[in-house]
Amino acid sequence: MTGWAPIDCHAHTTMSDGALSIGELIDEVRARGVRPSVADHLSTDVALSVKSIEGVREYLDALEPYEVARGGEFCWHDPLWRELPDDLVVRFTHRLGSLHAVRIPGASRPLSMFHRELPNELTAAAYMALHLDDLERLAAEMPVDILSHPTLLPIPLRDLPIDELWTDALEDRLVDALFRAEIAFEISNRYRPHERLVKRAHDRGVRLSLGSDGHTRAQVGDIGFPLEMATRVGAEPRALYDPFVHGTRATR
Ligand SMILES: [Zn+2]
Ligand SMILES: [Zn+2]
Repeated sequence: MTGWAPIDCHAHTTMSDGALSIGELIDEVRARGVRPSVADHLSTDVALSVKSIEGVREYLDALEPYEVARGGEFCWHDPLWRELPDDLVVRFTHRLGSLHAVRIPGASRPLSMFHRELPNELTAAAYMALHLDDLERLAAEMPVDILSHPTLLPIPLRDLPIDELWTDALEDRLVDALFRAEIAFEISNRYRPHERLVKRAHDRGVRLSLGSDGHTRAQVGDIGFPLEMATRVGAEPRALYDPFVHGTRATR
């Protein structure tokens, strides 16, 4: 039996907003005993990102010579993922879907997770209901393998107690949507989920995925926390999402 090594399914290079070249990322991640992926931002709505179909083609061409999983992080609210031709789709080992902005009724633009204010009158509970509406749409419509950082929320909400944000009903909606769509739940080292939700996902039969969401030398391949939490909720190491074992929805 060959030794098992975890795979970091989510990390960035200088092709989007990361600090390392592809080669540097691979060396750094491997030095930690972790298998590397590159999953750069492929979105017209991230400042430093690959923003066009032609750009995605060049991105995949750049990754091709390396022994590295070819991922990509797509924004739900951005149209690029919908426009990808099939010949590019099948070249990814895995794709990640991210809820980086949420539709707010009456607003002209979706609310970014990185905006510093909530719209007037919007309570945390009202926001969370809209957030789950979009997460359900993402799961139903977006052909991705992994939901990135499932607990990333707008900046003004991030310091609220978990129980004021996540009710049992909201958590059930999220894990049911992922289960139905066969999308893995990322345990992000960067935006760390609470254990109750990870356990709920695992108990529901949702596959777990490990992601550093690393952008720097110190961050890429750092999946100690995600791996520890996966173990704590009872996931078998070999059941953790691995594109080379479990495949991608693009070709399944
Ligand atoms: Zn992200
Ligand atoms: Zn990311």
